[in-house]
Amino acid sequence: MTEPKAPEIIVIGAGIIGVSSALALLRAGHRVRLLDRTGVAAETSSGNAGAFAFTEIEPLATPGIMRKAPKWLLDPLGPLAIRPAYAARIAPWMLRFWRASWLDRYEGGVKAQSSLMTLSRAALERLLPTVDGETRIRREGQLQLFESQSEFEASLPSWEARRQQGIRFDLIEGQQAIAEIQPGLSPRFTHAGFTPDWINVVDPAQWTRHLGQQFVAEGGSLDTAEVRALTPGESWVEVVTSTGSLRAGQVVVAAGAWSHHLARGLGDKIPLETERGYNTTFASCDFDLRTHVTFSRHGFVVSKIGEGVRIGGAVELGGLQLPPNYKRAEILLRKARSFLTGFDPEGGTQWMGFRPSLPDSLPVIGRSPTAERVIYAFGHGHLGLTQSAGTAELVAALAAGRTPEISLAPFAPQRF
Ligand SMILES: Cc1cc2nc3c(=O)[nH]c(=O)nc-3n(C[C@H](O)[C@H](O)[C@H](O)COP(=O)(O)OP(=O)(O)OC[C@H]3O[C@@H](n4cnc5c(N)ncnc54)[C@H](O)[C@@H]3O)c2cc1C
Repeated sequence: MTEPKAPEIIVIGAGIIGVSSALALLRAGHRVRLLDRTGVAAETSSGNAGAFAFTEIEPLATPGIMRKAPKWLLDPLGPLAIRPAYAARIAPWMLRFWRASWLDRYEGGVKAQSSLMTLSRAALERLLPTVDGETRIRREGQLQLFESQSEFEASLPSWEARRQQGIRFDLIEGQQAIAEIQPGLSPRFTHAGFTPDWINVVDPAQWTRHLGQQFVAEGGSLDTAEVRALTPGESWVEVVTSTGSLRAGQVVVAAGAWSHHLARGLGDKIPLETERGYNTTFASCDFDLRTHVTFSRHGFVVSKIGEGVRIGGAVELGGLQLPPNYKRAEILLRKARSFLTGFDPEGGTQWMGFRPSLPDSLPVIGRSPTAERVIYAFGHGHLGLTQSAGTAELVAALAAGRTPEISLAPFAPQRF
């Protein structure tokens, strides 16, 4: 790859974070080159549940989580699992996860996540009309289901945290009231919370590709190359790729669950791990799904994708190398068949994706402490699609040297 003129900004990774950031940078007037080792939407951004889950402001590490976790871990196919071959490797991350659940850190986490959610929601509304977005989304809200009075009551502190942040929701009691929002659910679900402001994309892979096409149509460059190292120079960063070296004025690392490899080469140790998730997608389905449905206790969701449905979720801590265990997708599907009356589609495509996750559930958004021309934008965990438009605006502000709209201190790469 030879370049007559160094591109001003190189964005590494064409998942939803990289593509959104590249588009925002281009629209801010920069020359931008987007690099991916495979192509647009090659990894986690292709197969997720497709939700802009703006109400999910709580970190995973809630106070008391370490009391509940062992019970979940006893079930190897339960909502949370650690692959035995990975247990020792994940231990330092788990320690940080436990620390993140201490009350003061948890409260700070909720505040930080809320600020990013508020920005991201507004940023998405700004983006939609500029990319012909309205036809590619659904505004159908989300129904979170509970199976007993006690389970519902245990969720009340989370609803209170949302209320304090001005998030809209309705709490619902009784099967009849639930059926008015989503008919066809098993009678085991006695309570629910409905969040009307969730938005879903029609298909997350298509959405990411659409933004990628928009980026190219507006003059951005898109190349296939694996980035192997970053070397800061006096007024540039050398980007060493599988097809040659490039020089950039600034670099954005948005390589999802693989980002820490590049950061480590610069001397930044960031405790990024992956929470692997599983799902099964059916191209068509007779079940009348009217909203995004979340089965809280079981750690999975059912969402519309295209003309069909996707059933998935779960968290498996197993790193980037171990082969998938698709029994996890099967168990979720089996549960969905028993929770949704008449839901019995045939076929289905199984998928596993690598959520890029920091122990405090907050992404890293900020300049590298060791290389000022490198901006990090990764680690969005369960919420990368949700926070993509907001993250893109923050990256554009950083690249331009502007003060970002929200404080980036809680997202700083050096916070660990
Ligand atoms: C089962 C499941 C359900 C989910 N549901 C939702 C949801 O409903 N809503 C939501 O907001 N989030 C959801 N998520 C999370 C979301 O998918 C991720 O947070 C998001 O996709 C991360 O995007 P990304 O761009 O950071 O990473 P990715 O999409 O993984 O993109 C990273 C890109 O970087 C490239 N890359 C990596 N290393 C290099 C390198 N060295 N050189 C060049 N390229 C490189 C890869 O090829 C890849 O294309 C879900 C995740 C899973 C697993």
